[in-house]
Amino acid sequence: MLTEKLYKKALDFVPLNKDEGLALFTQAPIEELMFLADRIRLLHVPGNSAGWMIDRNVNITNICFSQCSFCNFCRKKGATDAYITTTEEYKRKIDELFDLGGDQLLLQGGMNPDLGLDFYKDLFRTLKSLYPTLKLHALGPPEIVYLASKERTTYHDVLSQLINAGLDSLPGAGAEILSDRVRKIVSPAKATADEWIEVMRVAHRLNLPTSATMMYGHIETIEERVEHLIRLRDLQDEKPDGSYGFITFIPWPFQDEGTVLRSRDNIRSSYNGPDYIRIIAISRIILNNIKNIQASVLTVGKDIGMLSLHAGANDLGSIMIEENVVSAAGSSNRFSAGELQSMIKEAGFIPVRRNQKYEPL
Ligand code: SF4
Repeated sequence: MLTEKLYKKALDFVPLNKDEGLALFTQAPIEELMFLADRIRLLHVPGNSAGWMIDRNVNITNICFSQCSFCNFCRKKGATDAYITTTEEYKRKIDELFDLGGDQLLLQGGMNPDLGLDFYKDLFRTLKSLYPTLKLHALGPPEIVYLASKERTTYHDVLSQLINAGLDSLPGAGAEILSDRVRKIVSPAKATADEWIEVMRVAHRLNLPTSATMMYGHIETIEERVEHLIRLRDLQDEKPDGSYGFITFIPWPFQDEGTVLRSRDNIRSSYNGPDYIRIIAISRIILNNIKNIQASVLTVGKDIGMLSLHAGANDLGSIMIEENVVSAAGSSNRFSAGELQSMIKEAGFIPVRRNQKYEPL
């Protein structure tokens, strides 16, 4: 049978091509995919542990020219509720983070046309001088593309300057679906698929730790989901030996509440639990060179998060003290450190707190 041949190939770490990935996605029974993905997870991450972490999302600004149609967070310049976070607000939020035992900020936000490279360098330097042990997981490929264009320089130069200013790792934000057909519809002003890939290629050459993501469940096809995964795997294959590359892959579903995609185009999120579990399992199977697969409990909630740990995921992410982009579009899941650990235990795993590089603490 085709699927059995593909199971063997996947277990032998032979990369699956697009047709093979598609065949598994559309034909394999979910319980077989989960079993296979769990066996592959054990080859990457032996044992019975699952990771979690404490970090805090702070949005640098909510002003963004991109106006992606799936985003209910961005504001136009001049909007009454537009903001740029002040140093005093950062200090209050970082103090709270440190009080809870975390040391990492996930800094994201809009592409504000008034903010250039110097703004981000000054921000990183200020935060690092105030909190020398703070880790900055900040921006994402679309911002790097935007800053390189604004400053008329290269991705390499922008990333190097940001690393010198204190950037510790680059989130895989803005990947959505790495297909320009999709991007032209949902985020036409943002980086193209090739640009997103190229920024990550440069980041890997600079040995900057990165993550990979997928925001699915809107207008993409199953084929485009599979292509997305294969593009990530192929890029990871290119990373220099010893470079961090993609440390993890995190898929999450489109949250439709209040979005233009829903109100204007009548596109609802296609999210359902079994589909998410299938995506987690397929991700583990196709991404044979990315060690960690993280389930997004923030968007899928407790039950599907727990089940993901039996479908190839080895991590439930962060308690995420503050998150505005996904929650603005309807996600209401929130978990304390205790709840996240209980969830991992209830799923039959041992919770291991980790840092951004997935090193146990
Ligand atoms: S998703 Fe990001 S880039 Fe797109 S409009 Fe929202 S803040 Fe801007």
